[in-house]
This record gives sequence, structure tokens and C-alpha cells, in this order.
Amino acid sequence: MRPALLFDLFAPITTLGGVGPRVAALIEKVAGARVVDLLWHLPTGLIDRSYSPKIAEARVGSIATMTVRVLDHRPSRAARQPYRVRCADETGELILIFFHARPDYLSKALPPGEVRIVSGTIEAYGGQLQMTHPDHIGTVDDLASLAGVEPVYGLTAGLSLKVMGRAVHNALAVAPELAEWIDPAWRRQQAWAGWRESVIQAHSPEHENDLLPQSPARARLAYDELLASQLALLLVRAQVRRQRGRSTAGDGRMRSDVESILPFTLTVSQRQAVADIVADLASDNRMLRLLQGDVGSGKTVVALMAMLNAVEVGRQAALMAPTEILASQHFATIKPLADSLGVDVVLLTGRDRGKARTSIVERIKDGDIPLVVGTHALFQDDIAFKDLALAVVDEQHRFGVHQRMMLAGKGRGVDILVMTATPIPRTLLLAAYGDMDVSRLSEKPAGRRPVTTRTVSLSRLEDVVAAVGRALDGGDKVYWVCPLVEDSEVVDLAAATERYDHLVSLFGDRVGLVHGRMKGKEKDRVMAAFAAGSTDILVATTVIEVGVDVPAATIMVVEHAERFGLAQLHQLRGRVGRGEQASACLLLYASGMSDTARKRLKIMRETDDGFRIAEEDLKLRGAGEVLGTRQSGLPDFHLADLSVHGELLAAARDDAKLALERDPQLKSDRGTALRTLLYLFERDVAVTYLRSG
Ligand code: ADP
Ligand code: MG
Repeated sequence: MRPALLFDLFAPITTLGGVGPRVAALIEKVAGARVVDLLWHLPTGLIDRSYSPKIAEARVGSIATMTVRVLDHRPSRAARQPYRVRCADETGELILIFFHARPDYLSKALPPGEVRIVSGTIEAYGGQLQMTHPDHIGTVDDLASLAGVEPVYGLTAGLSLKVMGRAVHNALAVAPELAEWIDPAWRRQQAWAGWRESVIQAHSPEHENDLLPQSPARARLAYDELLASQLALLLVRAQVRRQRGRSTAGDGRMRSDVESILPFTLTVSQRQAVADIVADLASDNRMLRLLQGDVGSGKTVVALMAMLNAVEVGRQAALMAPTEILASQHFATIKPLADSLGVDVVLLTGRDRGKARTSIVERIKDGDIPLVVGTHALFQDDIAFKDLALAVVDEQHRFGVHQRMMLAGKGRGVDILVMTATPIPRTLLLAAYGDMDVSRLSEKPAGRRPVTTRTVSLSRLEDVVAAVGRALDGGDKVYWVCPLVEDSEVVDLAAATERYDHLVSLFGDRVGLVHGRMKGKEKDRVMAAFAAGSTDILVATTVIEVGVDVPAATIMVVEHAERFGLAQLHQLRGRVGRGEQASACLLLYASGMSDTARKRLKIMRETDDGFRIAEEDLKLRGAGEVLGTRQSGLPDFHLADLSVHGELLAAARDDAKLALERDPQLKSDRGTALRTLLYLFERDVAVTYLRSG
């Protein structure tokens, strides 16, 4: 249970003064629905209101906070005329201007004869100094708070800075003093303030420097978040370890058989990866290993060999892919090899229904079928294995701790191998997985040709289409990827359909179309037609990004390449250059690209090293984006930015490790503080592992 000390922070924002249902709905849009979300909603800028001149000295265009006496009100006489309030000090007159004024409010806020503080931008109009809609109006008592530096927050239509600022202020007021969870020596070395003071400081910037992620207050909060996430990862990991593993040590017979029928020899790093995995499987500990390899580096074969190890001792293995296309593709690779070894393998996806499905499920349960390939359908409750020893999860870039755990729950001490095609920079790897064991496939399989990459302006679309026509005549096969217009498949689809019609008008039935809204069977049919050579151009939305393999494809055209991220472009390019022929990638860009987009395309021209591309990507964008934001499985950081706080992450990992070594149950004073930290950053699940342990 969450500590009582944090109750106020996790209460709805409507518990704060000045936040009614209408304002709450607006704040929820930009920050979140709970008080704690406001604390994490850090300022994006600041307004210096300390300039407090006399009226006669006020500089036009500046933001000024002035002490004035209200003279009189001049309500608007015509609809389009503003309401004016005349004010003065001993040096001159200042007119306050209000459009669509609420007279009752104004007469209360600015009673004639009284002294008031007004803060806003000084304007000159017809020889008069004026201020249109002051940002703040207060009494003399408010001078100190108004004439300071005001933080600026991300807002939305209908939500004013003033209302937002007050809500944050009220949220800070309920932030409790919390016992320190950071190692004292480390905190001293960093010269960080305590948690509460740091949150307050982070919301009270005085200089531009205070807004930087490296500023002490923000760094401390980022560290807190990283520490919570590393601690949670370690606890999950410890939990996995606690459930004892089993030794699965086959005799290698099937593995060497399969090697002998492969039409190629394994690369050095494939061999090494297999050796790593075989050793893990043979040990009593549970395996939790990541197999990282660029697109086309040959992960499937490695997975198959790992799975055969389980079959050799009479156990089962499952391979799960994120999409039906991918699952079918893995199945297509594995099936012929398994057949020639006399090993049964089935494909199970959401498409299997009724009797066929029931029969497959029965045979898995009876242990009739040693190898199962599938999608998330493998998680369903009625799927039980007789003796699952190894779960391989091909996550591409949508990894998630929970999915892994669910598949692992389908057996006793199941070993887990996660495959990802996304080259993940070390920092991100640590953030997403903590200390996971990693095998890397570093070289591309023999016979791969480098892909020539060119960037071409979209204004030359006709030339590109003509060149594609010539290439088709020469026997090339072409992917044509259409842009991500919005985060909407419907809109993406419109663009792809339009290009499809255009290309059909030129090349007739040699053109196919595949997109995310198609039914599985239809998709397969289109993909199969392209793979078999009955179509030669495949127009696609980004569905093909996720790993299809058509070795004969030689040209990749990406329309509006400037709208794609580096990782995506790299994945797309990896679709070609998989066969014997020379391949090309044409990145078509629209004019008016951003600097970042320009840099991305330049990097694509310069290198095809996935790890270099990933590192550059991390520099160009925030870390959360590198792996495709939400679906990345990266913890959703509010305060930490891994492109800046990479070193803090390493420190947090060490700190978390040490803390758990000293106090595995988190029972000491610091341990208790660390538990609070876990709750503060909503790693509640990790705390339950503590208790059960
Ligand atoms: P990915 O790592 O993208 O999943 P795959 O496992 O799909 O890569 O392999 C891509 C292609 O390369 C497949 O056709 C596979 O048969 C082939 N392949 C795998 N390993 C080798 C190798 N050592 N030499 C040549 N081709 C290989
Ligand atoms: Mg693959």
C-alpha cells in the first residue's frame, strides 16, 4: 500500500484550491489528473517581472510590474471598443485595456482610489502608455511575489498561465517532506538539496540556467526517477531469479543436424550467441538474455538453435512475435528446417479459431508439439504447455517486462530470450532492461551487399518514377513506402492508396498495396504475391517496417523521408540488400525540412552501422523517441532525459544495486525511504516483489 504521506500527491487535482472541474479538465490535458502530475510538469521558460519602473520611465515593449493608483473606469460604449481603466503614479498615467471585459470582476479587482500592482507588457498607443490585459493584478501585499521571476508552463487553449501557475503553487504546498533516499555521500558530492526543496526549486527558476536539465534541482529529480526505475528493474530481476530455473542441456544432435542443412554457414557472432544461450540454458539459473542484431543479421536461426536445445531433452519451446506477418515469417523459416529434422512445429495466431485452434491447443498441452510459433495469442489463458523450457520473444522495438513475465508464467522456470532488431544504445539498454545479459550479432551474414543511399527532392518525383520503371525492366523489385501523415492510419492509408493508384496507372498489375488496416489473410496474400514475383512493386504504409524478408527486393523508396525517425529509416532500408544483387534506397524529401530532418538524412547517407545510427538518434531526439515513444517499453520518464542524464543513470544503477545488497528487503531507514521513492514514481509492482520475497 502507498504510504499515507503520499496520499495528497496522488489525490485528484480538484482537491487543490482554485482547480474546479473545468480547469481540471484542461490541466489534465497537459499535465495529468493527479497532484503529483503537476509536480512533474516542470516550467519550460520564465518571465522576469522584476522590472518595476515609474510610469514615466517604463520602456515600451518591456514586461513591467508597476505600483499604480486606480483613477477611474471607462466602460466600453460600443461593442468593439475596449473597457479602459485609468491608473497613475506621481510621474504619469497608464491605461489598462480590457477586451470583452467583465465589469463586475474589474471593479472588484481595481477599485477606484486604491493602490494596485499590475504586471504585463508596456505598450504605447496614441502617445499614451498602456497595458492590455495585465498578466497579474494584485494588492501591495502581492508586490514581492509578483515582481519576481514567473515560471512558464506548457499550456493548452483556455488554460492561462496564471491559473496553471496557481495550481502548481498549490500542488507544491501539499508536497510533503520525505526522508532522504539518496546515498548521503553521493548527495553531498552532487550538492543536491532534499527532494521537497528540489521540486520547489525546479518550479522556481530564477535564471535561464535553472531550466537546463543539468541544473541541480532538475538533475536531482531526474536522479530520483532513474533510481526508482533501476531499483524496480533490479527487484523484478531478483524476482525472476528467485523462481529457480532448470537446466536444459541437450546433446546438440539436432543443432548440428540443422547446421548441416542450412544453405549457409553461421557467422562468428551467430555461433557466439548460440554458445552463450546454450550455456545459459544448461545452467540452473533462469536465463534472461537479449539477442540484439540489426535487421537481417540472422536472429531467427539463432533462436531456432536455442529452441532445438529444448527439444533435444524432450521439452517445448515457443517463439512469440509482435505481428502476424512476423510470426508467419518466422514460421516459414523454421518449418522446413524442423520438418527435415522430424520435429513438429505449429503456428498459432489470433486468426486461428474454432476446431482448428482447439486441436492445436490440445496438442500443445499434451506435449505433442515441441515447437510453437505465434503472436500474443500465446498469452491466452487456455494456452498451457506440457513442459515449456524456453520462451523466445521477438519484440522488435516493443519490448515490455510484463509480456515477458506472462509468457514465462506458462511454464516452470522458463528461460527467456528476447530478440530485438533495434540497435539500442547502451544507456537505453540499461534504462529499459537494467542488467540484462546481451548477445550481439555484429556482422551481417555473408553475401549481404551494402545499399546505396540517395536523397532526392520530391519535386523530382517523376524522375524517380521513371527510374523505377527502368529498374523494373531490368528485373528489380521495389518497396515504395508512403509517409506517415499523421498519427492516424486512415490518413496514412489515403496517401498510400493515392500513390498506389498512380503507380497502377503506369505499371498495371505489377503493383501491390499492403497496409495496417488490412485483414491478416489479405496482407499475407499481397506479401506472398510480392515475394513470389507476381507483383514487383509493393506500396506500403510502415507495416513493412517490422521485419519482412523478401531477398529479391532491391529498391526501397521512402516518400517524405523527412517525416521518419532515424531508427525507422534504418529499419526500412534494411528491407533491401538482403539478396545477391546490388540494392538502392531512395529517400524522397519535401522542401522546407527542419534542421534535424536534414541531419537525419545526412546520417543515413553516411553510414549503415545500426549502432552508430542509434547513438546519433539519441543525440538528435529525446531518448523516449528513439525507440518509438510509448510502445518502446522504455519506462515513461517524466523528469529524466537519457540523452542528457546518461551518467546519472549509471550512478543510479550502482546506487540501487548497493542499496539492495545491503538491505535486500528494504527494511532499514534508507530502505523505507527507497520504498517511498518507488511509490512516488509508481513502481508499486516492484514493491510487491519485495514483500513476497
Ligand atoms: P533478422 O535478424 O532480421 O531476424 P533473419 O533471421 O530473418 O534476420 O535472417 C535474414 C535472412 O538471412 C534469412 O533469409 C536467413 O535465412 C538469412 N541468414 C541467416 N543467417 C545467415 C548466414 N549466416 N549467412 C547467410 N544468410 C543468413
Ligand atoms: Mg527477423
